Amino acid sequence: LQVVPADASHDQIIRESLRIAGDKVTCERNIDVAHPYTGKVIATIPKASVEQVRKAFSIAAAYRSTLTRHERYRILMRAGELIAARREQFARLITLESGLCLKDSMYETGRASDVLLFAANQALIDDGQIFSCDLTEHGKRRKVYTMKEPLLGVISAITPFNHPLNQVIHKVAPAIATNNRIVLKPSEKTPLTAYALADVLYEAGLPPQMLSVVTGDPKEIADELLTNEHVDLVTFTGGVAIGKYIAAKAVYKRQILELGGNDPIIVMEDADIEEAATLAVSGSYKNSGQRCTAIKRMLVHERVADQFVELLVEKTKALHYGDPFDAHVDMGTVIDEAAAIRFENVVNEAVAAGAKLLVGNQRQGASYSPTVLDHVQPQMTVVREETFGPVSPVIRVSGIDEAIRIANGTAYGLSSSVCTNRLDYITRFISELNMGSINVREVPGYRLELTPFGGIKDSGLGYKEGVQEAMKSFTNTKTYSLPW
Ligand code: NAD
Repeated sequence: LQVVPADASHDQIIRESLRIAGDKVTCERNIDVAHPYTGKVIATIPKASVEQVRKAFSIAAAYRSTLTRHERYRILMRAGELIAARREQFARLITLESGLCLKDSMYETGRASDVLLFAANQALIDDGQIFSCDLTEHGKRRKVYTMKEPLLGVISAITPFNHPLNQVIHKVAPAIATNNRIVLKPSEKTPLTAYALADVLYEAGLPPQMLSVVTGDPKEIADELLTNEHVDLVTFTGGVAIGKYIAAKAVYKRQILELGGNDPIIVMEDADIEEAATLAVSGSYKNSGQRCTAIKRMLVHERVADQFVELLVEKTKALHYGDPFDAHVDMGTVIDEAAAIRFENVVNEAVAAGAKLLVGNQRQGASYSPTVLDHVQPQMTVVREETFGPVSPVIRVSGIDEAIRIANGTAYGLSSSVCTNRLDYITRFISELNMGSINVREVPGYRLELTPFGGIKDSGLGYKEGVQEAMKSFTNTKTYSLPW
């Protein structure tokens, strides 16, 4: 594991190599990785050729894992222990490549250990079913049994930048738990943690043929990751545009697509406004607002909107943002300057169209300050599209009908937060919001790493992730029947 110096302005450049079935393979061509806060190059990663990607898939396809459930459990538990023991190092690596503050990256490493713990335990569970066949008059004296088998082919996994460790581990750990082989392509913006994770898994005893990691120019290698003859399943987390490209390209491959979100927090007139504002702030700014389930719209009942907005502004101003390596900072940078400029532009556009800027919209490089906008209209770009950054746009609503209509009024359907204690409201939200999750008095992103998670509409095909669901997707169900 690369040791990240305490000083973010270090000069030592990390030189990464591919991991082809555990072998470190260098390439003639490389890609620079910069620390978003300083803009300085901190690492180079290999730009794999299509041939190298093919090699990763053919080695994986030729290998059949014979690991027992107990052995998979041990590997996953051991990897969790190694990450926990090196938690600080992992957190610093995440911060270095992503600009996420140390508080966020420490939290992320903790989540990764949870994923490994759950995957290890799920590996011990045989979820086969038994059906007696004497259920109808056509029945026989037999039983039908089900069993889960790993895929015959290989899993191709593609991940986004926003959680350099957690996005990756949510694909790799369930793959190991189900005895699959996986080739991973992390985001070229945040690839270092993925390479470090692979090394931890090899160290924990994973047969190296079960995991390869490649990086490169997606324009060159992405199609190979989607169409290689050995690929049985593509699991992708990222934006809608690429998700839909994959849907069209990866023909006759099983597809798990976890795409963007535009999650609302809905604050009704009876809500505890202090609690709602606290949830709004944490849901909007954690991870610099770069979570698929970050709060991207705040739909607030007009009767409590003034009170809510006052608290929201107060709590936003109390947030410390800046140097991500400063342990006291609550929010680091966003991923790069281009992203920060995009937020600035959509906020300026909203203000020009009549929204009121109450705090923020300050940018320096990839640092973008937490921003509150009031009197936002649903058709404004800042809320109609996914704003993947620390922006809190408040839309005032007259009641539950309007709240539900606006909440459902975007292309997305990932998750949501509703702040109310009225059971009639709660039951309506749960049944009428077209989202994958509804969290009452919690941020949209709340979940266990084990529980089903994922969206509908443009947020995904309705297949869920979370360790248990991912394990179901990563297996084939075989049935066999016996005389009984
Ligand atoms: P992105 O879609 O730009 O990139 C994701 C990955 O796709 C990267 O690894 C990239 O290299 C790769 N890629 C690029 N071109 C490709 C191609 N033609 N074919 C296949 N892969 C290709 O996303 P991003 O900017 O890294 O991440 C932000 C997005 O991810 C946001 O929209 C966010 O909402 C979404 N996201 C969704 C979830 C979820 O679980 N639903 C979680 C986190 C992030």
